[in-house]
Amino acid sequence: MAHEEIRGRLAALQDDDLPVHGGRTLAYVYDAGLAEVDALAREAVAAFAGSNGLDPTAFPSLLTMENDLVAFARSLVDGPPTMVGTLTSGGTESCLLAVQGARDSRPDVDSPSIVVPDTVHAAFHKAGHYFGVRVVAVPTGPDHRADAAAMTAAMDETTVLVVASAPSYADGVVDPVPAIAAAAAERGVRCHVDACIGGWVLPYAARLGRQVTPWTFAVEGVTSISTDLHKYAYAPKGASLLLHRTPALRRPQYFAHAGWPGYTMLNATLQSTRSGGPTAGAWATVQAIGDDGYLRLAERALVATDTIATGISALDGLCLVAVPESTLVAAVADAGLDVFTVCDEMAARGWFVQPQLSYGDRAPSLHLAISAATDPAAFLAALDESVAAARQAGPVAVDSGVAELLRGLDPATLGDAELDLLLAAGGLAGEDGRLGLPERMATVNALLDVAPPALREAVLVAFLDRLARPFAPGT
Ligand SMILES: *Cc1c(COP(=O)(O)O)cnc(C)c1O
Repeated sequence: MAHEEIRGRLAALQDDDLPVHGGRTLAYVYDAGLAEVDALAREAVAAFAGSNGLDPTAFPSLLTMENDLVAFARSLVDGPPTMVGTLTSGGTESCLLAVQGARDSRPDVDSPSIVVPDTVHAAFHKAGHYFGVRVVAVPTGPDHRADAAAMTAAMDETTVLVVASAPSYADGVVDPVPAIAAAAAERGVRCHVDACIGGWVLPYAARLGRQVTPWTFAVEGVTSISTDLHKYAYAPKGASLLLHRTPALRRPQYFAHAGWPGYTMLNATLQSTRSGGPTAGAWATVQAIGDDGYLRLAERALVATDTIATGISALDGLCLVAVPESTLVAAVADAGLDVFTVCDEMAARGWFVQPQLSYGDRAPSLHLAISAATDPAAFLAALDESVAAARQAGPVAVDSGVAELLRGLDPATLGDAELDLLLAAGGLAGEDGRLGLPERMATVNALLDVAPPALREAVLVAFLDRLARPFAPGT
């Protein structure tokens, strides 16, 4: 294919994606609204895309940039002079490694476990699944924050790690880190603070004079912190930091293997060959924005969050899950208003708002991750219209027989044929058998919402499995 044609095809492919700029995509992407910084970061990604972080002696540039990023982060997380860090591919990898390192620091524990609040990011359940570590999820209190006393009571001799969030993704509030870390320290257990989404915002919030629950290494007992560069450091995707209070705490994370005929493999992360692109992209972004720049961006995003939270509270029909402590907002709807339909109406107006399904006795909610580029007045105007339109449309009704059927299904017994039928019944398969998302997602979400979590997982895995096939359906 001619290069010009390839460029055209790439641009056409990208037309179907959510926009990564403009501040209207309120999940997945984070926009500083600084076009020149963005262009610079993309140049850096391109320039280092072929470099390999596998061997820092072969590509010392990447090591220098990684150390610079860790040094910058140290000032944000009150890191002691002994603090070290590792650049990873993203928040999930940082969280996975925190669990792996904790597990491997305790070879004396036969059946290791971690104690987490039930609001902890799903990445910790993934870590438990991958690394054979039991996850003890402790219910959060009515304020949606971790219950420190209940978490303390849940620790036992198998506990290798305790986790708190700053803030939690779903609810946007900071857990009582001091009490949790103190209880962990008293038992000689590691304590990880998942600041993947708050790590580049909360330090500036505190500097701006806002009330922030202590969560950094200034809190005694905190042994590691994850903070994502590709969220509120506004770096291109593929960059996060896992920070440890001391080199000794990081040591079990390293993997070395000399028992084969090839090079001695020496890795600090799950990846071995590691593109230099994200490293250079993050480094360029952090240098270009700098401490003062981040302070201004955090202020803009926090003020936008306040405006949006106040606007939502004033809106008839919606109500905040919690007063936001950073840049995340979750809101539930009154009876008669369907949050999934509100999401569809927002999408029709060019705004992507993330739906969160009901969980336990929690109602489904709208979730917003607000960037510096988000215009709060424009958002609220669109939300006002969307709520009115959703109210007019009325909630999506799920037939009570269908709901009963879904609640009674055992996902473990479902074969491919049954899953195909469920996908078709849910509107996820078109007439030609081709899978795809319908224009409006409210019906799909309403059906998923009545399904128990294990069935949601099974149906969505089946959906993804069928989407991710290079051949046409039916062949
Ligand atoms: C985003 C996030 C993660 C996972 O990060 P990815 O970069 O999506 O892998 C983990 N914890 C929290 C609190 C997050 O917000």
